Amino acid sequence: MQIISEISELREIRRSWQKSAKVIAFVPTMGNLHQGHLNLVREAKLKADIVVVSIFVNPMQFGPDEDLDAYPRTLESDSHMLQEIGVDLLFRPKASDIYARGLEQQTFVEVPGLSYMICGASRPGHFRGVATIVCKLFNMVQPNLAFFGEKDFQQLQVIKAMVTDLSMNLQIYGVPTTREADGLAMSSRNHYLKEQERKLAPTLYKKMQQLVAEIHNGRRDFSKLTQEYKLQLSELGFHPDYLEIRDTGTLLPPSHEDNRLVLLAASFLGKTRLIDNLAFELVAQKN
Ligand code: AMP
Repeated sequence: MQIISEISELREIRRSWQKSAKVIAFVPTMGNLHQGHLNLVREAKLKADIVVVSIFVNPMQFGPDEDLDAYPRTLESDSHMLQEIGVDLLFRPKASDIYARGLEQQTFVEVPGLSYMICGASRPGHFRGVATIVCKLFNMVQPNLAFFGEKDFQQLQVIKAMVTDLSMNLQIYGVPTTREADGLAMSSRNHYLKEQERKLAPTLYKKMQQLVAEIHNGRRDFSKLTQEYKLQLSELGFHPDYLEIRDTGTLLPPSHEDNRLVLLAASFLGKTRLIDNLAFELVAQKN
């Protein structure tokens, strides 16, 4: 596995691949890799000849009071894992090269609508930061395929919309969420959880499954239902940010015609913000 930091070096290598007409897959990450990230790489390896992974903790997608400085950076073990799994190239650029003119002056990409709702409402500017870095990395790597986790469901929709809107010439793949044995969605931020919080954390997904089971059993009063479950989560010790049922494509509140829905959740446990989602299909009720 080649490990490079310079954008110019990446471009040179990319030019050498151009000649061989190989299919190039790209997996952007912020590092501190776990099996969720590795499953994206595994999917990428199945569909491409060459797999490029980036590790870049992107300052533009963090709010002023968020965990940019505390975000776990574990480059040595990350490199080892990527080498083991057979990644071809690890790109780990420096922030000073990525934002060469400074963050204040940075041209940005923003997907309207999708970027402002749900997580975007709680984290203003977050999806602008995500869309901008992903667009920049796409320009550098020029992949044919790119892989993102369904764990970050809204992020995946934002990226898909950006690719469509800007007529980008690549295919986006979503990969199902990888979970711990107890159901907790894997996340680099799970390291922040204290012992007691870690024990409670899988309850978020369990409650989400229960909520969706109630829908399958016939409940259709979505806003009352999500309110009830938010209350239950609060009573258990969570601080729910949102718990929303949305259409999977638009992420808007579902109309009567929408039947492919997703339950989206964000909840604090202590200082750690957990996110998760559960897609489900609404089956028409018999009268
Ligand atoms: P991050 O390093 O958190 O920015 O994540 C990099 C990529 O890995 C994103 O596309 C995430 O959606 C994806 N990812 C993170 N956690 C998981 C998980 N538990 N299962 C599947 N994909 C994940």
